[in-house]
Amino acid sequence: MVGLAELDPPYLLPSHSRGRLCYTLLPERDIKNITLTPLAPMEAELIAQLRRRIPAHPLLRLGPGDDAAVLRMADVDECVVTVDLLTDGVDFRLSDVDPRRVGHKSLAVNLSDLAAMAARPLAGVVALALPRRDGLRLALELYEGLLPLAERFSLAVAGGDTNSWDGPLVVSITLLGAVTERGPLRRGGARPGDHLLVTGSLGGSILGHHFDFMPRVDEALVLADRYELHAGIDISDGLSIDLAHLVEESGCGAVLDLDAVPVAEAARRLAEQQDDGRTALDHALSDGEDFELLLAAPPDVAERIIAEQPLEVPISHIGHFTAEPGLWQTDKAAGRRELVPRGWQHEFD
Ligand SMILES: [Mg+2]
Repeated sequence: MVGLAELDPPYLLPSHSRGRLCYTLLPERDIKNITLTPLAPMEAELIAQLRRRIPAHPLLRLGPGDDAAVLRMADVDECVVTVDLLTDGVDFRLSDVDPRRVGHKSLAVNLSDLAAMAARPLAGVVALALPRRDGLRLALELYEGLLPLAERFSLAVAGGDTNSWDGPLVVSITLLGAVTERGPLRRGGARPGDHLLVTGSLGGSILGHHFDFMPRVDEALVLADRYELHAGIDISDGLSIDLAHLVEESGCGAVLDLDAVPVAEAARRLAEQQDDGRTALDHALSDGEDFELLLAAPPDVAERIIAEQPLEVPISHIGHFTAEPGLWQTDKAAGRRELVPRGWQHEFD
C-alpha cells in the first residue's frame, strides 16, 4: 500500500479545449522547461493521484479519468447493482474516527449487500461530497481505507465523482456484482419449516466492529455454491428487524430461539459498561451493523451446514420459519411470546 507521504504533488498544465478547461499531467522530466501551475482544482488533482494509485484490473477496459468507465463483462450473465449512502453525523462521526476507517466501512457495507445476494463483487464507482476545508486530503485518506478492501475482493474501482460543498462528508458507493449459477439469494424465499441460520456473533458493534468488519462475501459464495439456500439478508439494522424483513418478504413468520443466539464478546462488554438495563442478548437482538448473514435453509440442508461448519466463522441454528405470519421469541425460561423488532432505523424530521 502506498502511504500518503509517498504521493508526489501532481504537476498539471492547464489549457483550454473547445471552451473547456483541461489539465494535462506532465511527466517529471518535462517539468523544468515549463511554467507550471502546481495547484489544480481538487477533482483534477484527485483523479491524477488516483490514476497512479488504483491498480489495473482485468475488468477495466477504461478506468478513472474519462467521462465514464468501460468494463469488460462478457462472461457475466446477470448483474446485481447496489448503492449505499453514508453521511458524517449519521453513519460515523469524522471528528472521532480516522477517515481510512470511514473509507473501509463505506465499501464494506456495500460488499455486505452483495454478500447478502450471494453475488461476486465485480466493479464499483465512488461518489464523494467533501467539506471544502482539507477536502483533497480527506478524499485520499478515504481511498487509502477503501482500496485495500477492493483489492481483497478483486473489485475493480472504475471511477466516481467528487464535489466539495459547505455540508458534511457524504460517501456514496455503487457496486456491481455477478450472481452465481444458482441465481441471486433473495429475502423472499423462506418457507414454513425452514431453519434460520446466522454467521458469526451479534451485538456491541458500536465498540468498533461497525467500522472494521470484513463483509461475509466469501462465506456467502461458499454457502450458496455448496448448499440449497432459500433466502438471505445481511444484518445491518439489527437481528430482530432484519428477521422481520425476511418474514415480510417471504410471507411467513419466524420463531427465534433466544438460547441459541450467538452473543458477541463486544455485546457483553457493552452491557457491562452501560447502566441502562439492556442485557448482552438485548444488544445481540437490536444493535445492528453486525453485517453477518441471516439465512433460511430447508431443515435437512441446515442440519448439514451446522454439522459440516464449512466456514472459518461459526454458523448457528437460531430458529425456524412458520406458516403463521408474525415474529416470536422463545427460550427455556419463559416459553414462546411475541418478538417486537427493535434496531437501527433512519429517522426523518
Ligand atoms: Mg442489506
